[in-house]
Amino acid sequence: SKKHKVCVVGSGNWGTTIAKVIAENTRENKDLFDEEVQMWVFEEEVQIPKDSKHYDPGSSLCSKPQKLTQLINGLHENVKYLPGIQLPENIVANPEITDAVKDATILIFNLPHQFINKVCENLKGKIVPFARGISCIKGVAVSDKGCDLFSDSIGQKLGIYVGALSGANIANEIAQEKWCETTVAYDPPVMDSRQPTPEATPSGSPHGSSANLKDLNGTTATTPKGKTQKLLALPAEYPPLNHSNIKKLFHRPYFHVRMVTDVAGVSLGGALKNVVALAAGWVDGLGWGDNAKAAVMRVGIMEETKFGRTFFSETCRTETFTEESAGVADMITSCSGGRNFRCAKMSIKEGKPINEIEERELNGQKLQGTSTAYEVNEFLKSQNREKEFPLFTAVYEILEGKKKPQDIPSLIEPGNE
Ligand code: NAD
Ligand code: 13P
Repeated sequence: SKKHKVCVVGSGNWGTTIAKVIAENTRENKDLFDEEVQMWVFEEEVQIPKDSKHYDPGSSLCSKPQKLTQLINGLHENVKYLPGIQLPENIVANPEITDAVKDATILIFNLPHQFINKVCENLKGKIVPFARGISCIKGVAVSDKGCDLFSDSIGQKLGIYVGALSGANIANEIAQEKWCETTVAYDPPVMDSRQPTPEATPSGSPHGSSANLKDLNGTTATTPKGKTQKLLALPAEYPPLNHSNIKKLFHRPYFHVRMVTDVAGVSLGGALKNVVALAAGWVDGLGWGDNAKAAVMRVGIMEETKFGRTFFSETCRTETFTEESAGVADMITSCSGGRNFRCAKMSIKEGKPINEIEERELNGQKLQGTSTAYEVNEFLKSQNREKEFPLFTAVYEILEGKKKPQDIPSLIEPGNE
């Protein structure tokens, strides 16, 4: 029987960390997976920084910029986006995206959300048509058609099924193998009932299921949002991609995976907490203390739950926000040490725009909360429902300069909607 080949599309701070997690697991599960993990790298020239394991001011390697892919493959370290972390040697950095995904039956999408549409354009028609995907992207896909999950929008564009991974997962901590949890939502369409497939989620799953979906091996299937798409069944020579085998791809002693089926809840928890983390950073920057930050988090959890239950009501579960790592735990960690929180806090303390802080502090890493705040607002405005989400709306108005962080208490006070 054949083995699954994995490609991680993206190689930033989280992309590289997930590639490390997966490469450790493909080594340990050679019955299921090809050991080599391809990692697509947006190529750039970088100079080895001081925090790299390979920094040596006397060496010629450090004297001038080098191609990032060559550095990753030669040193087994992503010196720009994950410096100081030794990567498994079975990760292969590849600057050619169509070559990286060639033969991959599992595609892991992990890059800042603003770049994914262009990447999908480049991937169209170039991937294994029966591949399955997992999106680790935290953001929402807002267009004139409405608000979509990246798992769904990538899936639609490429004609494959895509699930989601999200959780309280600050990448640097996981790269250092400090213990945490994550949530993986995977709920591929159930096959034609005459041909039950081991890939489908077992019925009676405690996390609900899109059992209305039908994958008729190349004929049209309907997604939870009512869109149609063609999906191909995984050929029988491959190990099934059920919850048990998907878990084997991600679960590590330091990275505990909980498998669920609520793709919408998992994706929205990861996307919307980035907006809330900005507000948490602002109130902290004002010196208002932990109580104020906790109040922002409480309202944030309520608004993300309401967003999911209102706009993704077919599948989204309240418990995903209140009980899973992708919900409450991610809210807490992101409002404690995440980049959105830290940059928002610095922007208040220094009285500078957050984009300027992002540029100065993150060395090419990208904030997701600022653009997500605009995208969520564009969608809420189009639905005429801005007032029902006062915290999301407040963050947008503060970014726009129409309101101040000091206004947050009154803006989110009940009765002010
Ligand atoms: P990052 O913030 O490190 O961003 C840098 C990456 O963007 C680099 O790989 C760079 O090559 C790439 N990039 C820059 N310009 C590009 C372009 N024009 N086209 C394509 N790629 C380009 O990225 P990350 O931390 O890996 O984040 C990826 C996703 O994971 C985001 O949605 C983020 O919210 C989420 N996430 C991040 C963390 C974390 O702690 N870093 C944790 C969990 C989830
Ligand atoms: P930041 O992008 O704000 O760093 O959040 C990281 C994250 O998603 C932690 O789970």
